[in-house]
Amino acid sequence: MASKTSKTYVPTIGLEIHAELRTETKMFCDSKNDPFASAPNTNVCPVCMGHPGTLPVINKKAVEHVLRVGVALGAELADFTEFDRKNYFYPDIPKGYQISQYKYPLVRGGALGGVAITRVHLEEDTASSGHDEGDYSLIDFNRAGVPLMELVTEPVIHSAEEAGAFGRELQLLLRTLGVSEANMEKGEMRVEANISVATEEDTVARKFGTKVEVKNLNSFKAAEKAIAYEVARHIEVIESGGAIVQETRGWDDSKSKTFSQRLKEESHDYRYFPDPDLPKLKISEIPEFSLDNLRKTIPELPWDKRARLAALGLKPADVHIYVSIPDVGAFFEETIAALGAGDPKKAKKDAILLASNYISSDILGLIKKKHGEGREAEIGRLPFGAAGFAALIRMIENKTISSRGAKDILAEMFENGGDPAKIATERGLVQKSDEGAVKKIALEVIAENPAVADEYKKGKQASLQFLIGQGMKKSKGSANPEVLKTILASLLS
Ligand code: ADP
Ligand code: MG
Repeated sequence: MASKTSKTYVPTIGLEIHAELRTETKMFCDSKNDPFASAPNTNVCPVCMGHPGTLPVINKKAVEHVLRVGVALGAELADFTEFDRKNYFYPDIPKGYQISQYKYPLVRGGALGGVAITRVHLEEDTASSGHDEGDYSLIDFNRAGVPLMELVTEPVIHSAEEAGAFGRELQLLLRTLGVSEANMEKGEMRVEANISVATEEDTVARKFGTKVEVKNLNSFKAAEKAIAYEVARHIEVIESGGAIVQETRGWDDSKSKTFSQRLKEESHDYRYFPDPDLPKLKISEIPEFSLDNLRKTIPELPWDKRARLAALGLKPADVHIYVSIPDVGAFFEETIAALGAGDPKKAKKDAILLASNYISSDILGLIKKKHGEGREAEIGRLPFGAAGFAALIRMIENKTISSRGAKDILAEMFENGGDPAKIATERGLVQKSDEGAVKKIALEVIAENPAVADEYKKGKQASLQFLIGQGMKKSKGSANPEVLKTILASLLS
């Protein structure tokens, strides 16, 4: 019996990502933009409640945020743009339509981490509904009308991991630009994944398979798991002679499974048309939105920061920490500025690498021990600052203290702050470099270990290491090992 030949399938993924924008007020009214206000239905007004006769006004800051995202992505910014009504009926949308952008998005093209972007547009968020209170639903309009950015990628992602990496990089970008908190767990950032599979040949020819769209992904891990689940399901359906139906599916995190929600609606179902209540925008006529002005508002972007830190010779793991956890990155940058007496470019390479090692292993280690996992931002609340830490690093560098002594001093600073030089003196951790003191220790060590000293005299080099070790122990780590070595060697020569 000939076995069924299994083909190689390639997954194709396109992402649609929404992010709530950080502004004072909502997208089209002056209600406070605070979707997580503890009392429901408090940040509301007749405009975001959709009362008849009210008129929306465009939030300029929200437009600026999306344009800045466009600049960072190297995308094309619209000159002409307008808002459209996306009509549908659901209790979370009081007007019976959502104001969005259809034909003229603010941003087109660009790329992030090698993934081509189709578009980025601006719209308003819907109210949030709670269905877990028995046989009724509760609606909170605090979120209704909050500015929402939607970014759509081209179908160019080919694995769950790549999709997760894209989401994380976008989150980092949005936070760097200060346009969104982009917290997945809070729904400030929402990822929808469009997934299909096709044979390698067909994929190369861009003949993709039928796609499904998966929603309710409230973490990057969930997104990755859902994509992997769907890819396996598609292959199984196709291999067993079935066909994938185009539909929207939900992700059940507790079961680690997707489930069918509804058949996909087509865009013509929404009867998009330009919103007659809102002015059309000509971006070139708004001076603040000139490319030059927008560029001035862009801070160092994650990929530029990554390249700059890597060029310092830092370990990739350390670079990753400084780029992805801003508070730790800031502490590192302040430290190298202090090491260079105000100018990070003047900091010595060895001192920079030493500081980086102490930050990523020792300081973060102490934080983890005291506060637990994921609390790296505590680095901004330590009882010592980057200047005190840099002073400690300099003392290790010029061998005033040993690395063992440094760890004790750091532990003390971590608990109670203080000046590292003073702590070193108080604890007798300043390395003894003066010949007299070290010679005394050397003579004691030789007297206590005559046999080992003899071995060294007969040519066994390792014996010297042993004697240095004994001397360091005797001095409680305070002898300068270089000086100790020289003296021992000359006494035994
Ligand atoms: P729709 O009209 O169904 O919303 P779009 O063309 O607007 O589809 O694409 C929505 C998202 O789906 C985009 O991110 C796009 O890259 C992705 N996409 C489109 N076709 C496919 C496919 N066959 N497989 C995977 N993703 C796809
Ligand atoms: Mg679409």
